[in-house]
Amino acid sequence: KYENEQHPRRCTRSTFQRVHTKSGEVSERKWLIYSPTSGSVYCFPCKLFSNNQKNHFGNAGFQDWKHADRALSMHENSEPHCRAMVNLTTHMDTEGSIDKCLVTQYRAEKQYWRDMLHCVLNVVRSLAEHGLAFCDENENFGSPFLAQHINKHGNMGRGHALYLSSTISEEFIALLGEKVFEHIVKELKEAKYFSVSVDSTPDISNLDQLTCVVRYVLPNGPVECFRTFLDFETHSGQDIAKSLLQFFEKIGVNIADCRGQSYDNASNFSGKYQGIERSENAVYIPCCTHSLNLVGQCAVDCCFTAISFFSFVQKLCFF
Ligand SMILES: [Zn+2]
Repeated sequence: KYENEQHPRRCTRSTFQRVHTKSGEVSERKWLIYSPTSGSVYCFPCKLFSNNQKNHFGNAGFQDWKHADRALSMHENSEPHCRAMVNLTTHMDTEGSIDKCLVTQYRAEKQYWRDMLHCVLNVVRSLAEHGLAFCDENENFGSPFLAQHINKHGNMGRGHALYLSSTISEEFIALLGEKVFEHIVKELKEAKYFSVSVDSTPDISNLDQLTCVVRYVLPNGPVECFRTFLDFETHSGQDIAKSLLQFFEKIGVNIADCRGQSYDNASNFSGKYQGIERSENAVYIPCCTHSLNLVGQCAVDCCFTAISFFSFVQKLCFF
């Protein structure tokens, strides 16, 4: 505090922060410490490693608050201070530090659990890539590291982290799913033009799922990938079209860039009056596999024995 001054100056919080002139980024001056006894600030590394008498921050302390900004800025860019900082960092990292053993142990532990999560991630990825279930007849999957981990940490009871629970696997699956989704959307936007294929099919629990598949061309060739399951209220073409348009709007893809559409031959999809076949630039192509399926179905319908056989199979299936 300066006497005879209209606005007395003090050591404030901003003294301990450095504001970068160009970017405006604020960083803490962790090296600066304040002594309530002397009412001065000191530079911790310079106090330890510098014996330069002119260096106020490393000797008697600094309390010229009026010129604090300039002095601090000059000090932190000065060569003796930089040398002292390097000295301190080297000492903290390797020798002399009383918590050296603790730090080493902490780092080893951190690395162990990181490796462990990498292992789980690799297993989840491999299973997903090969379309395998998590529980199967052959459960010999993983690595010697994982086996060692299970031996060491398995069956330790509640409250002991193992990172092999279904929750962790599900979190990984969700995170991987998000990443894949983002990647496809990015590719789709890069490719700009695309075609879409929509079809509904019952899943294993006999619940109807509406699948959306997109096709686009990248410099290294055409890509076809499953995009999402669409929500739909009814099977009407209008509802399905609404759901599809909402989905593309949500991911920020312009439906006007759609150049092709392919559905089965059901009237709700390809119907002239209420089907979803309405985009001007998008050429409609009936799905060839579905058409072939219809031909097969009609052929079978002509044969009484075949009808009774397939209706029996169907009844058996939904029993
Ligand atoms: Zn210093």
